[in-house]
Amino acid sequence: PAHVARLLPRMIAGELIGCAGLSEPGVGSDFGGLEMAAVRVDGGWKLNGAKAWITNAAVAGLSVAYAQTDKAQGYRGIACFAIEADRPGFHREKPFELHGGHAIGVGGFRLVDYIAPDEAVLHPPGRAFKAALAGINGARAYVAAMCCGMLQASLETAVRYTRQRRTFGQPVLEHQGVRWKLVDAATDLEAARLLTYRAARLIDEAGDAVLPAAHAKKFATEMAVRRIADCIQAMGANGLRAEYPLARHLACAKIAAYTDGSIEMMNERIGAALPQVFG
Ligand SMILES: Cc1cc2nc3c(=O)[nH]c(=O)nc-3n(C[C@H](O)[C@H](O)[C@H](O)COP(=O)(O)OP(=O)(O)OC[C@H]3O[C@@H](n4cnc5c(N)ncnc54)[C@H](O)[C@@H]3O)c2cc1C
Repeated sequence: PAHVARLLPRMIAGELIGCAGLSEPGVGSDFGGLEMAAVRVDGGWKLNGAKAWITNAAVAGLSVAYAQTDKAQGYRGIACFAIEADRPGFHREKPFELHGGHAIGVGGFRLVDYIAPDEAVLHPPGRAFKAALAGINGARAYVAAMCCGMLQASLETAVRYTRQRRTFGQPVLEHQGVRWKLVDAATDLEAARLLTYRAARLIDEAGDAVLPAAHAKKFATEMAVRRIADCIQAMGANGLRAEYPLARHLACAKIAAYTDGSIEMMNERIGAALPQVFG
């Protein structure tokens, strides 16, 4: 389509930053209940509503945004539009201040009588909801991978530190109570990696990655929060200092527990499949 030919080269060149607008000030997990409204007008759609908690919204020139075209249709009424920040009716909100995740520019925007021409419809009503879910397995796998990376870095820091720090006549790492905590973290890291690789492989092979991606995301985010905190504990008070990355990684691991579906939503996804898998 014409708008893809116009926008994609600019995105590839890094001139145009994109963002994905699903969440709203009043709607997160319950994506099917979103409130941004799209009304048919001559040659396109008129959009009104707000998006919030959107990664890159602080700097994005283009957003993929989901909006409801017919409330009575429920999730089937949702359509997906390419929204351009330099068109009339687009208002960027001030980004949120967060603990951790400063680099990802999380914020939102408001659309006031924004006109999206027909060519900006990326998925029509009836197809957008499924399209959003189709892309989300990849996002869940990379969030899981991110958690593995943060724990790897935290373990490297904690092991280096506890090898040289001495208490009661020996390196802290030689105290079995501390060593075993870091061993448990290393075991969890191995397991999270394998779950992540499995999900990623299935996505690459265009297989059914729904459950593997949900398991990987749930396990990796939960273990990262717990085990990064254990790495901090092993380092004593020094583990909290800003020159080490651990506290930052801990805040980011907590962020990962929400992005692309919370831990509870992963449980819902896995729970819905229990009868097929184990019944
Ligand atoms: C840093 C960051 C970046 C983000 N980037 C994006 C982005 O780029 N694009 C985007 O669209 N969104 C983005 N999000 C939003 C993210 O997808 C939502 O935070 C997430 O979907 C959860 O929604 P919520 O925060 O509104 O929580 P709510 O939906 O209000 O839920 C609150 C709590 O209740 C739990 N809960 C809700 N329903 C149930 C249920 N049925 N059973 C059990 N527990 C339940 C939730 O798991 C959560 O713990 C981002 C969020 C963060 C923190």
